[in-house]
Amino acid sequence: MKISITKSPVTLVFTVLGAVLFLQMNIASAEVSKPTPGVDNECARIGKKLSSVGYKECLDRDLRQSDSVSAQGAPILVKEYPPLENRKPMGRVLLVGGIHGDEYSSVSVTFKWLKTLDKYHSGLFHWRISPLMNPDGLLKRKSTRTNANGVDLNRNFPTVDWKVKSKYYWEVTTSKNPRRYPGPDPLSESESRWLYDEINTFKPDVIIAVHAPHGIVDFNHNGHADAPDKLGRLHLNLLGTYPGSLGNFGGMQRGIPVLTIELRHAGIMPSPGEINDIWVDMIRWLKQNMPEDGSTDEPVDLEKELRLAMGDSTLGDQTMVDKNSGDGVLGDESKAGDNDILN
Ligand SMILES: [Zn+2]
Repeated sequence: MKISITKSPVTLVFTVLGAVLFLQMNIASAEVSKPTPGVDNECARIGKKLSSVGYKECLDRDLRQSDSVSAQGAPILVKEYPPLENRKPMGRVLLVGGIHGDEYSSVSVTFKWLKTLDKYHSGLFHWRISPLMNPDGLLKRKSTRTNANGVDLNRNFPTVDWKVKSKYYWEVTTSKNPRRYPGPDPLSESESRWLYDEINTFKPDVIIAVHAPHGIVDFNHNGHADAPDKLGRLHLNLLGTYPGSLGNFGGMQRGIPVLTIELRHAGIMPSPGEINDIWVDMIRWLKQNMPEDGSTDEPVDLEKELRLAMGDSTLGDQTMVDKNSGDGVLGDESKAGDNDILN
């Protein structure tokens, strides 16, 4: 029996037209999602470094390059989940992982949450997320807490009297621990400057920073927001703040609640269930603690803030009081990243 594989001329025309259209749509969608060389290269490096985030998985998150790069020129990648049509978000959330380059799980878990949002972003919040704020620290052969200039980015924010207090804290309290070096000046590093600029322009209602390996939740805010008792199996433990830390700068000085998630291990991933439980508890907490009508949007005198950080005594009464300068006995950070086994 002869089986015909030909089609009538009319069917053929439609088939060809359909195929052309399909091809064009595919080309168009491929063009939209094609990563820039910077994203592609960084995803390749992340995929090589982290066993829990593959190259393709990183590309699939469709990150974009911010206009900032690290000390060694690696792009700081971001993903935005903007407000959706017909739904006013409850607030803006800025979420960052990998401020400390040797806290691998903080990067990987943030990637898992990006995947969750890719699937389920409902417009409840307006998110801006950077899974890896310190690419140089993570991606060097032996990952480091600090950036390529040897600066602890989480000590480089312009808190009041930074110049005096961070120097004292580093030299006396940490005995010049190189892992805690705050840098020569506040915001001396492009990575901390990037986050500072994001805070000024995106105006987050809440900032969330992911770290490891203390296995707790920390919280800094000089206002009325309540700290969460727990997120997943991580319980609240207020560690205090340090000169130049994000919690000190954002939470105490700027009055933006800063939630710090300290995962249990730097080099071992939480279980998928735990990653999800932390996320669900975090969303619940955000819903309960968002300011009623968004952020206050109080103007900040940026120039004055930087002069106060440099210790300019001519400014007289300091309105931005550093309530918790971190000069006393604070949480033990000494184990952070020191017990990394895997990545
Ligand atoms: Zn950390």
